[in-house]
Amino acid sequence: MILIESNFGKNTYDIHSLTKAFYPDEEVRITGVDIPRGDDCHTVINPENCGKVGKLVYKSDKGDIFEIKVPTDDRDELKRIIYRTLSKRTGRELPWGSLTGIRPTKLVRNRIEAGMSDEEIKNDMKQCYYISQEKMRLALEIAKREIALMTPLSPSNHYSLYLNIPFCPTRCLYCSFTSNAIGKDRRRVSDYLDALKKEIIETAPVMNGRILDTVYMGGGTPTALLPEELDSLLSVLGAHFDMRNVHEFTVEAGRPDSISEEKLKVLKAHNVTRISVNPQTMNQKTLDLIGRRHTPVQTIEAFELARAAGFDNINMDMILGLPEEGAEDVRYTVMELCKLKPDSLTIHSLALKRASVLNEMLTEDRRGGDSTETGVICTAGGVTPGEAEEMMRIASAGAESMGMHPYYLYRQKNITGNLENTGYARDGRYGLYNILINEEVQDILALGTGAISKRIDSGGNTKRSANYKAVHDYIANVDEMIERKKRLYGIISV
Ligand code: SF4
Repeated sequence: MILIESNFGKNTYDIHSLTKAFYPDEEVRITGVDIPRGDDCHTVINPENCGKVGKLVYKSDKGDIFEIKVPTDDRDELKRIIYRTLSKRTGRELPWGSLTGIRPTKLVRNRIEAGMSDEEIKNDMKQCYYISQEKMRLALEIAKREIALMTPLSPSNHYSLYLNIPFCPTRCLYCSFTSNAIGKDRRRVSDYLDALKKEIIETAPVMNGRILDTVYMGGGTPTALLPEELDSLLSVLGAHFDMRNVHEFTVEAGRPDSISEEKLKVLKAHNVTRISVNPQTMNQKTLDLIGRRHTPVQTIEAFELARAAGFDNINMDMILGLPEEGAEDVRYTVMELCKLKPDSLTIHSLALKRASVLNEMLTEDRRGGDSTETGVICTAGGVTPGEAEEMMRIASAGAESMGMHPYYLYRQKNITGNLENTGYARDGRYGLYNILINEEVQDILALGTGAISKRIDSGGNTKRSANYKAVHDYIANVDEMIERKKRLYGIISV
């Protein structure tokens, strides 16, 4: 464990993320301290009050203690100083340098839109954030593609729609979403769908007269619903929103064990254009370890069923850094996916979030606990940064060998190898909603549990309204969330 005593009183997220990136296996905690004022003025709780100097004291439970003095209040400079110090101490460089935010491509896009040349952008990003050349090339390529794809979709009278279905066949161990195993209790599902239909019907008027570009139904696993439940929900959606201009209608079919011919027919009948069939890995051993109760053969069958049903835009997701997987396992998964020829491939680096069972098990393991009850052998920290980068190279090369190009990218805290999640697709098969949600250039009306609606004002600032995450809270408070959306989009006054 590393304890950081900070007298900054702010920038806690940056300090924590950057430290965790250098010490992925350690638990990192920060405490704000009021260190008694010393001679050199380095030790006050608020640096603005004295000498403009802040101090971080790192104490590891292995007895290591060191200080980082930061003679500035500038956020980027603080991160650069922490980066240089920790890089020197660990002998490591991070692919994304001192960047802690989730959207590196936005920084590049801003520079392109400000008229900077490729060379100027590369130099500036290198100086500001110490980004590696490889990641800089990736971010630049994606930012240019995003601009080309987003430009027709960004006028202020356009918007996108998101629907959340918080149910899955079973819960995966690494899951940090508000997903519930669907089980046999259909009453809970039907109460949820009634509340969601109410939200659809009563919020649809907030978008009257505007153009709906993309629709995304995610979760959870929407295809965990029965065919008749899906049909009824999509009928209500089509009856209340004007779907005539929709470019892209995605449904996450996600878990292969939730897909059937009947459900695919329902999706087709409601003009769904894009689905995801997500293997995550094609190794049975890993699927068993992570609690995904399906087989690689089911993934292949579900994919072929979707093609036979006429879907010509199928995405597949894979995850790097799953327990006990190394480069050879990733190579095998990529080889199997290449045989299927999906239209897009989203490469995720495993990000362990506090809410996941897998994270609890790893934490327990670090404390010397026993996780054998569930059969998972947790190697604290999983793969090394070098292995993570190797896996990313194998997966990216696989996507490129299928004629795909990178088109969106985002990062998360505690992500394997401090890397990224990247969407690859063939030309004409890009997932537009993925870009819109990441880059925040368009209003998004988001319905269902945990959904966050966004409104972009004329100054480019984002206002949000979040729904309750738990199914029972959502059902009990749906009227309040409908009112909040009316206020967010200005059809009733605040
Ligand atoms: S399929 Fe996705 S949402 Fe469902 S439990 Fe697994 S990780 Fe969570």
